[in-house]
Amino acid sequence: MTGRFAPSPTGRMHLGNIFAALVSWLSVRSQGGKWILRVEDLDPQRSRMEYARQIEDDLAWLGLEWDEGGVDSVGDHGPYCQSLRGDIYEEVLQRVESTGLTYPCYCTRADIMATQAPHESDGRVVYSGRCRPESLGGVMPPDGSKTARATRLYVPDREIRFTDVVYGEQSVNLANHCGDFVLRRADGAWAYQLAVVVDDAMMGVTEVVRGSDLLLSSAQQIYLYELLGKEPPRFAHVPLLCNAEGRRLSKRDSSLSMELLRAAYSPEEIIGRLAALGGLIPEYTPITASSLAKHFSWHNISNLPTITC
Ligand code: GLU
Repeated sequence: MTGRFAPSPTGRMHLGNIFAALVSWLSVRSQGGKWILRVEDLDPQRSRMEYARQIEDDLAWLGLEWDEGGVDSVGDHGPYCQSLRGDIYEEVLQRVESTGLTYPCYCTRADIMATQAPHESDGRVVYSGRCRPESLGGVMPPDGSKTARATRLYVPDREIRFTDVVYGEQSVNLANHCGDFVLRRADGAWAYQLAVVVDDAMMGVTEVVRGSDLLLSSAQQIYLYELLGKEPPRFAHVPLLCNAEGRRLSKRDSSLSMELLRAAYSPEEIIGRLAALGGLIPEYTPITASSLAKHFSWHNISNLPTITC
């Protein structure tokens, strides 16, 4: 089996990022698999190579060694930085476009906000289908040929079902969940959903472990796997970590970032704390990642929506 950790190098990692990395690493090591480190630097404004190097340094310090990938692209499935994989995404996009299931979208963010379906209270935007060719009735926006356009994918109005290793049976209708979604943005940037599927498929990833904020987006990814005729990996989402005020940890909030944690604790203390929080050991004790791997079982991982640390 092959697992992976796919951080976006947009800041120093926090305890929640480390938790997802740790669980993925433990699962791989306990099954004798291979662990890939992929740098998801699709967003040119926010991604920085120095953050990617820092992530590598933090993982190595914690004892979470990878077998393939990283900034230096070790292995046969590289490059492992998404910013260097544009040609691969282009080719796959052309394949998807040839199915007739995509269309150009000229909407600005303001258009989308003004026409979004009204019911989403969690901040999710459901695309209304405003630029679907049948909605436009063959009428291009004024100067349509010159306007920057995104590429959107039609989604089917049916339930997509999958079983998450931690959260169990899931059923998502993409038409209600997100509507037709973007594969390539108007500024040419590749969408996460396309890149993640192409990379996981081409890198032979069989198990995806990540934070539960991405649980439902797995349905978008499964739909893309279907279109590309590929077998989706097994998905395992882990609870998000929250601070004492109940707020989800973020890279902007530095209180539990690796910078401060490394100054105050040893790797064994951090791993032991995460293992106790996540249900991997009954109570806190300092422990190395490799000793935890001997006792790893998915059954012990907490399936609460969030964990307070
Ligand atoms: N790059 C994403 C992040 O850092 C993770 C994507 C994934 O694991 O599929 O949040």
